Amino acid sequence: MTHDEAISRAKEIASRVLAPSAGQNDKAGRFSTEAIESLGESGLLGLMVPAAIDGSGLGPRTFANVTAALAEADASVAMVYLMHILGAATIAAARPSAAQAVKPILQEIAAGRHLSTLAFSEAGSRSHFWTPISRARRNGSGVRISAKKSWVTSAGHAQSYIVSSLAPDGTGPTDSTLYLVPAQTRGLSVAGPWDGLGMRANASAPVALEDCEVPANFQLTEDGAGFQAMLSVVLPLFNLGTASVALGLCRAAVAGTSAHLKSARFEHLGQSLGECLPTLRAQLAAMQIDTDGLSARIDDLIEHLERPRDTTMLRVLETKAAAGDVAISVTSAAMRVCGGAAFSKHLSIERLFRDAHAGAVMAPTGDVLREFIGKARLGMPLF
Ligand SMILES: Cc1cc2nc3c(=O)[nH]c(=O)nc-3n(C[C@H](O)[C@H](O)[C@H](O)COP(=O)(O)OP(=O)(O)OC[C@H]3O[C@@H](n4cnc5c(N)ncnc54)[C@H](O)[C@@H]3O)c2cc1C
Repeated sequence: MTHDEAISRAKEIASRVLAPSAGQNDKAGRFSTEAIESLGESGLLGLMVPAAIDGSGLGPRTFANVTAALAEADASVAMVYLMHILGAATIAAARPSAAQAVKPILQEIAAGRHLSTLAFSEAGSRSHFWTPISRARRNGSGVRISAKKSWVTSAGHAQSYIVSSLAPDGTGPTDSTLYLVPAQTRGLSVAGPWDGLGMRANASAPVALEDCEVPANFQLTEDGAGFQAMLSVVLPLFNLGTASVALGLCRAAVAGTSAHLKSARFEHLGQSLGECLPTLRAQLAAMQIDTDGLSARIDDLIEHLERPRDTTMLRVLETKAAAGDVAISVTSAAMRVCGGAAFSKHLSIERLFRDAHAGAVMAPTGDVLREFIGKARLGMPLF
């Protein structure tokens, strides 16, 4: 699959499968299994799996474009996709001694039959996912893990979870290890419902691990090297992916607002809203400017990821922080411009507005990113 083919497959699935049911799934808080089936059949679940393991071996540029295309139709599905791509990337980066054991799972991902996700956040350390409270206990050459994971996208639907836990002998708060935990592992269960304000169709429910046994060959990082993998493998793609979801939401908000301004009419004046009111046109223009600005920012991050340099980590941090703010601002403007029609849920704008708020809340949150950037500017330690 080429870059262009991947994007055209994503757009086709977005219009045929995602768009028609996004509203109903949001209302019902229903996870779209048919969306995941279509993504699997199209090869998009194996997008970044190396070609040597039957995947498409594509990079961050394609990932960002595919995620934005999905988000334009249904941000919940795009978030599921994003967490899956991160799970797959973490499995693909497994330490050499686990590479053979995880290969069949990567092949299943490439074949579109396996959905993965990240289970990092814990009830105890909340959004500070880099400091798990749980600690793995030695069990022969493997470990046993008990943990309260507070939000896990695709909970109950994924075939595997990438679980963080403090290393058995770790001494510092960030001395974590990452493990691959198959969904059917004894002791792993979905621990509650998901009834969020936004992203209602992505099953981001809590997951409990009670004395789950994980063999040594499903330990993805060396003991205590989980934090480094979070920074080098997960963070850049997560921030790029959430920014791409934000971009998809902004594009949908601009399109939805434009359509409403063209179709809704003041019959007594013989004009559409858009023809009649320059103030609405100006707000629509500002939404378009902010959306294109976010798109340019994402392109800049992609370039930094393709050709890493001194400023790459700064761009990684900045892009998610900015994207969260832009998505909230653009969808808020859409709510204002579309007035009562948006407020009374006659349009999909209010779903976009609710979904946009998830990006800023998802860790690293916008606040934490700004805190890191400020500290970095002042030469202060981040952790
Ligand atoms: C839709 C959705 C899907 C999710 N999916 C997953 C998933 O798949 N896997 C996963 O591991 N997690 C997931 N999460 C969890 C997410 O990443 C965060 O951990 C979670 O939203 C944090 O919420 P909290 O209330 O516990 O944050 P808190 O830590 O209680 O934060 C409360 C407030 O304090 C601010 N704050 C916290 N620390 C600082 C700081 N150092 N400086 C400045 N401000 C700070 C925050 O920005 C926030 O505004 C998901 C969350 C959502 C909403």
